[in-house]
Amino acid sequence: MDHIVRGVLEFRKKAYPERQDLFQSLAESQNPDVLFFTCSDSRIDPNLLTGSNPGDLFICRNAGNIIPPHSNETGGMTASIEYAVAVLGVRHIIVCGHTDCGAIRGALDIPALKGLPHVKEWLGHCRSAMEIVRERHSIDGEMPLDARYLDEAIEENVQQQVQHLRTHPVVAAKLATGKVNVHGWVYDIKSGRIRCCGWDSVEFRNFDDYYADIIEQVQTS
Ligand SMILES: [Zn+2]
Repeated sequence: MDHIVRGVLEFRKKAYPERQDLFQSLAESQNPDVLFFTCSDSRIDPNLLTGSNPGDLFICRNAGNIIPPHSNETGGMTASIEYAVAVLGVRHIIVCGHTDCGAIRGALDIPALKGLPHVKEWLGHCRSAMEIVRERHSIDGEMPLDARYLDEAIEENVQQQVQHLRTHPVVAAKLATGKVNVHGWVYDIKSGRIRCCGWDSVEFRNFDDYYADIIEQVQTS
């Protein structure tokens, strides 16, 4: 805990005063442009990765960056989506998976997860992604997927969670009227690179290709 306490002292002494104006402006309201879903994995820092500041991203995290499909049961993710889209009016939703994801590694062989009943149930939301990988490679449903399929399963999971997102009425309404855009990302921890897909695309592309138009704009401005 020492480094955490030291870090808080440092924040108070250095980082906070340096950004005092920003924190003052955020003290009574927030106006983030982006709802950012990612895994709880300690190696992902959404603000660092996107060069953004406090107040820029409304962040939801859980094991496996899972967005349960909409149902009439209230859950934390459902409430956060509703609030971010309907109240805060975010214009972009990013679902960011990552390489070496422990949750997806678990989803490759759910029956093997002994003594983790909640993890097992939670990872049930990845099942369609795993079934797609199985189907593509003609792997029997009873057979576990081995580590060779991890990267593919991680990408497929992001795509499936993007599809789940669309089942939330508030998101469906904003997507249909072009008021929200959904982005699927996979962050490669080793290289720092990101691969991307949209809610209607079937494959991932490199970040620079996917955002070529925006990159051209920001580099000339
Ligand atoms: Zn993960």
